[in-house]
Amino acid sequence: MNAEILAVGSELLLGETVDTNSAYLARQLASIGIDLFRKSVVGDNEMRIAAAIDEALNRADLVICTGGLGPTVDDVTREAVARALQRPLVFHQHLLDQIEARFRAFGRSMPESNRRQAYVPEGARIVENPRGTAPAFIVEDARGTVVVLPGVPSEMRYLWENAILPYLRDERGETGVILVRTLHAVGLGESVIGERLADLMVQTNPTLGISAKRAQYELRIGAKASSRAAAETMIAQVEAVIRERLGSHLLGDERLDQTVARMLRERGKTLALYEGAVTAPLYRALSKEALESVRGVIMHPTDIPADDDAAQSLARTGAVDVRHRWRTDIGLALQPSGLIASDGFATVCMAIAHASGVDEWQRRFDMRSDDVWDFAGTMALDALRQHLVSA
Ligand code: ATP
Ligand code: MG
Repeated sequence: MNAEILAVGSELLLGETVDTNSAYLARQLASIGIDLFRKSVVGDNEMRIAAAIDEALNRADLVICTGGLGPTVDDVTREAVARALQRPLVFHQHLLDQIEARFRAFGRSMPESNRRQAYVPEGARIVENPRGTAPAFIVEDARGTVVVLPGVPSEMRYLWENAILPYLRDERGETGVILVRTLHAVGLGESVIGERLADLMVQTNPTLGISAKRAQYELRIGAKASSRAAAETMIAQVEAVIRERLGSHLLGDERLDQTVARMLRERGKTLALYEGAVTAPLYRALSKEALESVRGVIMHPTDIPADDDAAQSLARTGAVDVRHRWRTDIGLALQPSGLIASDGFATVCMAIAHASGVDEWQRRFDMRSDDVWDFAGTMALDALRQHLVSA
């Protein structure tokens, strides 16, 4: 079975309310192995909601709508579903009785506008709503099933868990699972990672998706299977292949900053920093936990080295100096060259001083990019990680 989600509400469209219902429903669908192919948002407009449901039914087996079941004139999802499925709305006295009883329980009388909530499309299965006035409903149509839930997040979740999930699992036999595991990688270009994993990225089950963020990569492996254990096995197989192809560039479940923090702690290593850029990229790249291993930082942004050799020399002496000054195991330094080429690129020099010497390296970065210092910080952190692996 594959599904689409349709969130209804002009406030969602305007960005005033964040559509958290769709995110919740998406995770829930994955938990029972239903493929989700599309999520949409429509304003409070009967014709457009009806059109969206109609289109969704052309593609999906299951359409889940949320929002617009309230008593006011702008709550038109009920009418829109009836229109899309070409069924009349039918009045249910017992629903009206329940809505009236709910108002009585609060010591109020029911406003006439709530009468609308006692109507559902002909043939719909009614899902009573003990958390609010708007009943939910399910319509099994020749083209597919439409599930309609209220927009109030707590009500929607309650009805999903207590009525819709049991319906899909027990009556529609949706008992699979889609598991997602996120791995982290670092230190390779996005296109290199893409090439090495291309064949895995075109597979449909398990799936592999990659997103890049400042030289760090999230690899999402998704597996659909009949049980959690089977999905885990499928994911483990893909992970083994990725590990073989990316080698030490694959970190695992932890992000780079978490990996470095753990390694510093496990090895009991202390750190001092030399920052040759005013943005303090080293300090910023370290996690709060990793900063516990930092004994001191020297900021020297006014040193503007004349060329790449001078920058490298500053990085080297900076790393050695801070290590001595704070008597740490490791001194880490980053120094951009003052020489910026006409293409906007400049060399950033880095150095790691440790008990057995100094390791140095350079890389060119586009100084016009807003993310340059995040990239540089990531590179330095990854070098520190590699040093810790071998230390
Ligand atoms: P009610 O009977 O309470 O009016 P309803 O089905 O009409 O329910 P809406 O009027 O669409 O629901 O929304 C009720 C509340 O829930 C609003 O505060 C709205 O911002 C919030 N809400 C609606 N849809 C979503 C959504 N997709 N994600 C998060 N919040 C939502
Ligand atoms: Mg409403």
